[in-house]
Amino acid sequence: MRRALDAIASYKPGRPPSPADGPSYKVSSNENPYPPLPSVLATIVEAAGSINRYPGMGMQELRSRIAELCEVSPKQVVPGAGSCGVLGQIVNAVVGDGDEVVYAWRSFELYPILVSLSGGRSVQVPLTEGGRHDLQAMLGAITPQTTLVLLCTPNNPTGPVITHAEVEEFLLRMPHDVLVVIDEAYVEFNRDSEAVDSLKLFRDFSNVVVLRTFSKAYGLAGLRVGYGIADEAVADALGKTRMPFAVTDLAQVAAVASLDAGDELAERVGAIVAERERVVAALEGDGWRLPQTEANFVWFPVGAATDDFVEAASQRGLAVRGFSGEGVRCTIDVPEANDLLIEVARSFVPQVADSRG
Ligand SMILES: *Cc1c(COP(=O)(O)O)cnc(C)c1O
Repeated sequence: MRRALDAIASYKPGRPPSPADGPSYKVSSNENPYPPLPSVLATIVEAAGSINRYPGMGMQELRSRIAELCEVSPKQVVPGAGSCGVLGQIVNAVVGDGDEVVYAWRSFELYPILVSLSGGRSVQVPLTEGGRHDLQAMLGAITPQTTLVLLCTPNNPTGPVITHAEVEEFLLRMPHDVLVVIDEAYVEFNRDSEAVDSLKLFRDFSNVVVLRTFSKAYGLAGLRVGYGIADEAVADALGKTRMPFAVTDLAQVAAVASLDAGDELAERVGAIVAERERVVAALEGDGWRLPQTEANFVWFPVGAATDDFVEAASQRGLAVRGFSGEGVRCTIDVPEANDLLIEVARSFVPQVADSRG
């Protein structure tokens, strides 16, 4: 085994709910609680009739539909097996032995794993108090060895977005031969108008790669399809680091059908956002002061009480995501699950002096 593997903790998928007396909910993986739309399901079933064939390699239809959505050229669209797949392609393309990758911490658990796998070195820059990226500090962390910067907005697991002004200034001041990934897995849930307009910055800066997914808002987590928007030269390079046939035909047609049903899906996203606002208001009413979430989850920075929170939630039928010693991330689900969460959280409200997230 390569030495690099010793330093890597295996990726932990969100835990399933443990049996409880009442109904149980998996709110540990930020999935969409709604089942597939009938129109999307029908398309998948139809496509299943040809799975004896390899998928279409060019992914023309999918690429041109995403290009339309993002107002870019199809050549700038890089589909992959989930946006995790695309991120793997990016890391494989630009991170070699000893190269440095700068990102905020805590952020998405996959980042350190991919960097270590490639033989690179993670440079983790602590979030500020409200669970936000500290772009000044990240700028200071860039060295001649840096080949990649990862920005996660809204940030998983804390929830805040990075503002447009912050990212623009960062891009202006950093070396332009360093690739900057803006990971927007939750962008559809954002309602903050100051949040980064990543596609606009992509047009202005050729070192920006925008990462999006069909897993969360579009509800296709089980099919594995996401995409990057990248400069054509970067997109060509990423084509070389993709596993052949990484995106199955079922995933491709489901993604296209989901774009066809964009309005219906946007309604569902709206319902989740409305639930998020309701949950946040209830939590604030109970005395919580949480980081401002623009995603489909909330973050409880409960520190030493994390494991107890996870256990208490589990006893009520909620499987949540705890990071021992730091906090708990809980996905916004159907109203009944959210009500349970509000109840569980009530017994963990920190005292006023240390309640700031
Ligand atoms: C869920 C998530 C992804 C997307 O994963 P897929 O591979 O597209 O399912 C990417 N980035 C972050 C930060 C996420 O939370």
